[in-house]
Order: sequence, then structure tokens, then C-alpha cells
Amino acid sequence: MLGPVILAASRSDRMRRLISAAPVTKQVVDRFIPGETVDDIVPIIEELTGHGLELTMDVVGEDITTPEQAAAARDAYLALVDRLKELQLGERVEMSVKLSMFGQALEGGHELALANVRPVVEAAAAIGTTVTLDAEDHTTLDSMFAIHEALREDHPQTGCVIQAYLFRTEADASRLAANGSRVRLVKGAYKEPAEVAHQQKHEIDKAYVRILKVLMEGEGYPMIGSHDPRLVSIAQELARKAGRKPDEYEFQMLYGIRGEEHLRLAAEGHRMRVYTAYGTDWYGYFMRRLAEKPANLRFFVRSMLTK
Ligand code: FAD
Repeated sequence: MLGPVILAASRSDRMRRLISAAPVTKQVVDRFIPGETVDDIVPIIEELTGHGLELTMDVVGEDITTPEQAAAARDAYLALVDRLKELQLGERVEMSVKLSMFGQALEGGHELALANVRPVVEAAAAIGTTVTLDAEDHTTLDSMFAIHEALREDHPQTGCVIQAYLFRTEADASRLAANGSRVRLVKGAYKEPAEVAHQQKHEIDKAYVRILKVLMEGEGYPMIGSHDPRLVSIAQELARKAGRKPDEYEFQMLYGIRGEEHLRLAAEGHRMRVYTAYGTDWYGYFMRRLAEKPANLRFFVRSMLTK
């Protein structure tokens, strides 16, 4: 029940100011967003890849309001690519981007976001890696899928995310599975109305399994974005039934959540990619992590009260 309230707060400027200014926030934020700059994050990339994990890097930020901020987002990703080039890790470290951070919601935003994300995709390809387009709220998805298709013309490895809670996703999955896309399937992290999305956890979980089956049986590359132990074992079973080898799909989990499971899956020979966020504009990302697990919120509130 708390989840929707926290998600509503994630879009409130007043709450953003309040929470960002609380002295204790930083310690709790660090669990999920372990750095602010590329320099902070390079040792973490080295540590995780040293443990046999792969990464997808997210420079946090979303819902920007000016074209200059969108250009700054593009430049932040280009600076990251420069550092990744030195590390020579190829596709072991890819990038995840939110198109709202690249200007998608501004006037002429579809074209602007495409123009800003294209150089990042090109720079990624030049160092042997790729980019995945995150899924944001449902109103942004037609534009996201069109940008994904446009980018795939020259860079077919460009990935996208689909959300099991949306009714539309089964059809999206069939299309993407048929055209050979790299697709991350997640449950969905935004507050969506009942007209477009399942609201009950068991309905979302059932949809997740149906959609995953479509992806596993299709021509593309499925990326299982979930910490749910039941879904992880169902994914292994579906991959086996579809005759997929361990390098023909991968698991993905968020930095700071079920870290021991990241290592276990990697040790079992699975591709395991850790979604690792860094940067200063962490509010929206952090609030979605609180909304996913009420215990996180309790811990956060307790830390504030005991300070
Ligand atoms: P849940 O049933 O929510 O969780 C299963 C178990 O995992 C919980 O019991 C708990 O032990 C643990 N867990 C889950 N979340 C947390 C948490 N925040 N803190 C502590 N423990 C937790 N959503 C989008 O809408 N768009 C995206 O582009 C997107 N990208 C993602 C990328 C990756 C790699 C992952 C893993 C998730 C992404 N998400 C995205 C978020 C996703 O939609 C879910 O909100 C999130 O993954 C929680 O769902 P779950 O599948 O882990 O299952």
C-alpha cells in the first residue's frame, strides 16, 4: 500500500527538496547509487567485473526541463564511454539510458532524444559495447520503441526494456522477439493506472512468465531483469526448454539488491549483469527503490529518527 504513495512522492518537487536535504539520506542512497562521478564508479566497475559479473551503467537523471540539460546528459554518457574505452571491457560493461533525461518530454522531444542518444550508441559501438533504453511511464513508450527501431537500423544490438505490468507488453514482446532484439523484461516500477496495467502482484508475476516464454522462444536475446527467486528459476527452466545456451540470455539485477545472488548465478555459469547507477540526480531512482520494498522505507525513516 505504501508503494503508490512513495511513487507519487517521487514526482513531487517539494518532497525532492526535503528528502535530498536530509543529512542521513546520503548513507541510505549509497546502498543503491554507489558514487557521484565517473572516478567514484571506476573502482566499482573493476571490482564487480573482477568477480565475473557484467554491468550496465546508468547515469542517474530523468525528467529534465531544458535542452541544455539533455545535452549535458549526453555528454555525461560520452565521458563514461571515454573511461570505459581505457578499461577495455567491451560488452561486459554496457549502458542503460532514460530517454526523458535526453529531452524526450520537451517540445520536439522525440527528435531531440534521438539526436542526443544516437552519439552515445555510436560511441558505445566503437568500443565494442551497447546501450539499452530503459522503460519509463507508459505515455513515453511509443516514442521509446520508435527510437529503439531507428537506432537498430545501424546498431542492431541496441536493447530496450519492457514492463510485465502493462497490458500492451505481450504484443510488444512478440514483435521484439520476432525481430531479434535484445530485450530486458522487468515487472515495472512506475505508478500506472488500472486502465493500462495490472495492479495485483500475482497478475504481474503471471504476465511476467507468459512474456518471458515469448522472449525465450523467439529470435532475440532475453535479459531477465528481476530479483524474484521464483522468476529466476522459472527463467532457467524456460531457457532450458527453449534450447538456449548460457550465453543466449542473461540475468540482470540492481546494484545493492541481493548481491549474494549475483555472485551465485555468475558462479553457476550464467551471464549476470548488475545495473549500477551513479550520479547526483538520484532522487527518482532512489524513491523507486524505496517503493519496491517497504522495509527500505522503514530503514530510511528509522535512520532519520535516530540521527
Ligand atoms: P519483487 O517481487 O519486487 O522483488 C523480489 C525480491 O527482490 C523481494 O522480495 C526483495 O527480496 C528483493 N527486492 C526487490 N526490490 C528490492 C528493493 N528495492 N530493495 C530491496 N530488495 C528488493 N523498471 C522499469 O519500470 N523500467 C526499467 O527500465 C527498469 N529497469 C530495471 C533494470 C534491472 C536490471 C532491474 C533488476 C529492474 C529494473 N526495473 C525497471 C525495476 C523493476 O521494474 C522492478 O520494480 C524491480 O526489479 C522489483 O521487482 P522484482 O522483479 O525484483 O520483484
